[in-house]
Amino acid sequence: MLDNTRLRIAMQKSGRLSDESRELLSRCGIKINLQQQRLIAFAENMPIDILRVRDDDIPGLVMDGVVDLGIIGENVLEEEVLTRRAQGEDPQLSILRRLDFGGCRLSLAMPADSAYTGPECLDGKRIATSYPHLLKKYFDSQGLTFKSCLLNGSVEVAPRAGLSDAICDLVSTGATLEANGLREVDVIYRSKAVLIQRAGELEADKQALVNRLMTRIQGVIQARE
Ligand code: ATP
Ligand code: ZN
Repeated sequence: MLDNTRLRIAMQKSGRLSDESRELLSRCGIKINLQQQRLIAFAENMPIDILRVRDDDIPGLVMDGVVDLGIIGENVLEEEVLTRRAQGEDPQLSILRRLDFGGCRLSLAMPADSAYTGPECLDGKRIATSYPHLLKKYFDSQGLTFKSCLLNGSVEVAPRAGLSDAICDLVSTGATLEANGLREVDVIYRSKAVLIQRAGELEADKQALVNRLMTRIQGVIQARE
């Protein structure tokens, strides 16, 4: 087991959030050597352990209390919260701060030549997505239904492959959609990276460290604005 007196922070190992997560922690003064391909990195100058995992695992690690803090996209966090609620659980955690990176939108997209006048155009249609619960929340709010096609990758090829009528996927520039003959027709969720903390009281020393980190993060983000 890891040393439970040290603050545990989970971040994405490699992907769109990892460079900026690492940069934020290092600007907060945490000295970590992340060169090696290791799951756990130990800070040299503070009682902090960094867990480097797939982003999808981070909300669960925080909700299950395995780590104290996590840096994660709101899209992944909200999907996991909704998934757990759908399973009858009552997931607990707190969002300490919205961060200034990882911006993207979860959008509906259709073949470029199809007409779109509103979400009702997709009522009852099949939609490929990795975010079925976020999509259902949106469709429920519109009083509409859809048939799900759950894909955890290559979502954008589904319409061309005849698997779905539309997709609901993350977009930042739209280049991937265009390359696949798709057109973004509606934004259903806007996301950024957030810093989250597990439920329950932290031990006093850990809480004091979190408070110090929060002050530093505030300073780092303000300086970048
Ligand atoms: P992992 O291997 O950790 O599971 P992944 O492939 O699921 O990684 P990434 O593509 O690295 O995930 O994206 C991580 C997060 O970055 C997304 O969940 C989202 O919050 C954010 N993000 C920012 N811009 C984009 C984008 N254009 N496309 C996808 N995600 C983006
Ligand atoms: Zn992932």
